[in-house]
Amino acid sequence: MTKTADDVWKTCLKIIKDNVNLQSYKTWFDPIKPVKLEKNVLTIQVPSQFFYEWLEEHYVTLLRKTIKRELDKDARLEYQIVMDGNSGNNAPYTVNIPTSNTGSNKNPEVLAPMVLGNQIKNPFVIPGLKKVQIDSQLNSNYTFETFVEGDCNRLARSAGFAVANKPGGTSFNPLVVHGGVGLGKTHLLHAIGNQVKMNYVDKTVLYVPSEKFTNQFIDYLKNNAVNEFIHFYQMIDVLMVDDIQFFANKDRTQDIFFHIFNHLHQSGKQILLSSDRAPRDLEGMEERLLSRFKMGLTTDLSIPDFETRMAILEKKMYSDGIELPVEVVEFVAYNVSSNVRELEGALISLLAQSSLNKKDVDLETAKKIIKNFVKSISREVSIDFIQKSVCDYFSVPMDKLKEKTRKRAVVQARQLSMYLAKSFTKSSLKVIGRYFGGRDHSTVIHSCQAVRDLMDTDKEFREAVVDLEKKIQMSIT
Ligand code: ADP
Ligand code: MG
Repeated sequence: MTKTADDVWKTCLKIIKDNVNLQSYKTWFDPIKPVKLEKNVLTIQVPSQFFYEWLEEHYVTLLRKTIKRELDKDARLEYQIVMDGNSGNNAPYTVNIPTSNTGSNKNPEVLAPMVLGNQIKNPFVIPGLKKVQIDSQLNSNYTFETFVEGDCNRLARSAGFAVANKPGGTSFNPLVVHGGVGLGKTHLLHAIGNQVKMNYVDKTVLYVPSEKFTNQFIDYLKNNAVNEFIHFYQMIDVLMVDDIQFFANKDRTQDIFFHIFNHLHQSGKQILLSSDRAPRDLEGMEERLLSRFKMGLTTDLSIPDFETRMAILEKKMYSDGIELPVEVVEFVAYNVSSNVRELEGALISLLAQSSLNKKDVDLETAKKIIKNFVKSISREVSIDFIQKSVCDYFSVPMDKLKEKTRKRAVVQARQLSMYLAKSFTKSSLKVIGRYFGGRDHSTVIHSCQAVRDLMDTDKEFREAVVDLEKKIQMSIT
């Protein structure tokens, strides 16, 4: 009696069922259809290219062993892949691919598909997928126009702009943007997405936070619809995944993302990723995924400097039609320096206050509000910074503070630096002394007294001290 493909496959499935968990069995083996058995070659039909790759990667050994056991030691497996039809002729068609040989023979020709029929030349290019409308999930307020440029973001911004003008067509693929919380990663991704939509109306753009991707995947997995999940992502031209650090230790999500990534990348689609740290610092991430991330450009967003913070505040005020006294804006920009989100939060608090009290916010009120708002406001200034400020002020070279020079200007700068270090930091006299070429605590006490004395008698000096105190106060971040 000759066995049919159905018979053989049924027996194979029994063995497979014993060797994989039920979920995987349902996902990856239930949808397979045996097609034909010719001599010792069994052909099975799988629903997609992706499916085939998944089986090859995860189950090829099991499949091969099982087939050999059922047929004979030379038995082989061939796949028939169902491809989407092109737009003119929507009938799906199939391509056949033999299983890969053992690891040692990774000749790509072994994997080269043979086309059934003559519908297309290159079966790996899925032609004319039915156009499905996808909501890109983009926030239209996050654009390049509203994203203020500064040293902190220049490279990321211009790489993003280049990508937006030529998605998939630059070497920035993937573009990985990393940086701490509130520094503009999400804003930049949306800006790129919005720009792509403006430049290319036909491109399918999708922004997805990584947690959403994971949750979606789990849902599809539960419903045995992983294929649909994959199909969906394969349609995207520009895929942006935000906060990929949340993929850490999620092996199956990483697995599926790896495959989606490869597919998109190989077909010239653009991938953009953001992360709260550099890829090399991501833990719990598969090495092969990390190596993919490094194929394009990795660039960071850092904390904006004072000028950029001012520009961001001014832009926000302008777009919201708000006016605040310049010293208030400067005060905020000086003191709220951790990230842009806090900067915005501070501005909103000021506004809330002014509309509540129906009067403009002055510096005093601003100080009170910001103090409650930002933990870091009373953070210490460093002794180095004090020394530098004083030396700049009096045009004295900084290293002179540590030397024994008794020149008047140097002595004054040294004493004043010690005095300011005492009043602005919590450092002990001993520690302060160390910053001045290892002078002892009594020298520091003496210096502080000398400064107080001089302030009493020398108006110009007193003004200098007040100026410097202001400057240091402003810089405290
Ligand atoms: P992240 O995703 O890095 O945590 P977001 O993109 O959510 O940060 O940015 C936080 C807030 O700061 C957003 O409201 C964003 O619009 C704003 N923001 C960040 N960077 C800039 C910038 N360079 N110019 C203007 N606004 C910015
Ligand atoms: Mg974000």
